[in-house]
Amino acid sequence: MRELKGTEVARSVFEDVRRRCREFVDKTAVSVHLAVVLVGSDGASQSYVASKGKACDEMGFVHTDIRLPDSTSEAELISVVEKLNSDSSVHGILVQIPLPKHISEHRIAETIAPDKDVDGLNPVNLGKLLLGQSCLVPCTPAGILEILSYYHIETKGTHAVVIGRSAIVGKPMASLLMNKRCDATVTVCHSKTKNLAQMTASADILVVAMGKPLCVTRDMVKPGAVVIDVGINRIPDSTKKRGYRIVGDVDYSAVADMCSAITPVPGGVGPMTIAMLMKNTLQACMTQYGEHNCR
Ligand code: NDP
Repeated sequence: MRELKGTEVARSVFEDVRRRCREFVDKTAVSVHLAVVLVGSDGASQSYVASKGKACDEMGFVHTDIRLPDSTSEAELISVVEKLNSDSSVHGILVQIPLPKHISEHRIAETIAPDKDVDGLNPVNLGKLLLGQSCLVPCTPAGILEILSYYHIETKGTHAVVIGRSAIVGKPMASLLMNKRCDATVTVCHSKTKNLAQMTASADILVVAMGKPLCVTRDMVKPGAVVIDVGINRIPDSTKKRGYRIVGDVDYSAVADMCSAITPVPGGVGPMTIAMLMKNTLQACMTQYGEHNCR
């Protein structure tokens, strides 16, 4: 069994982005600039935004963090995003989710200019992805593709099963696997799927994005399968100082020895998300300056 180490793949993406950013800046004198908007004071979101800022610093990008109170209305947030859309010094815009309940994440994703949409959630980018056209791809599924490619895992002709159909992971993941570059035959499962174990047990590549801790058990995995665990869940653990530990959606200890390859949690898919955000930001900037050969 091979452990697919996202931390190692992310490092190689970071190195590549840093190098290409340096070359681009030397050539154009343009500073690659990501704007991150955070609404409210959610602790996890604050720490994600801080990590994104740190990654920007390491890549040599400029970043602007805009912090808005919980009471911000949808109209006010739209107006902030529209200002960033029309600011030509900003190349990438990310609005941290989840947003407070009174703000529609769909409306905000629709407002971000497609060429600055580094999270890949604007319907134009999701539509292009479905059509197999070049676009900004949501970071987590793009990162999973990067892991598969780094470890030379063949997708062509395989049966890939994706559990989860969210706009941020499941649907774009299924599109990527189905598109020409991967050529997999894809089954998408969700909470209403009957005989889930039967579906997953036929997967050569199983991508799990359910948000349910340790749900994928040994009987659900085909021997020799490649298992990609997207889940990040906290479960109580009194042996830990902080009182919890992080686990995936897959019961790693029960499943690992029967897989040909598997991502651990933590250290698997998680580190790829910020790495791909950096890659998308550079791609957005280069595309805005007419350079298209950045993938
Ligand atoms: P969502 O809650 O938006 O989607 C979960 C999906 O799983 C839904 O489509 C749901 O089906 C399906 N599902 C839930 N329960 C079952 C079940 N019992 N059987 C089959 N399908 C089920 O989550 P996200 O896609 O946003 O995230 C999924 C997981 O990935 C979470 O743990 C999240 O923390 C993690 N994540 C990790 C990232 C990373 O960087 N590694 C980035 C993004 C997410 P239905 O549509 O019918 O409700």
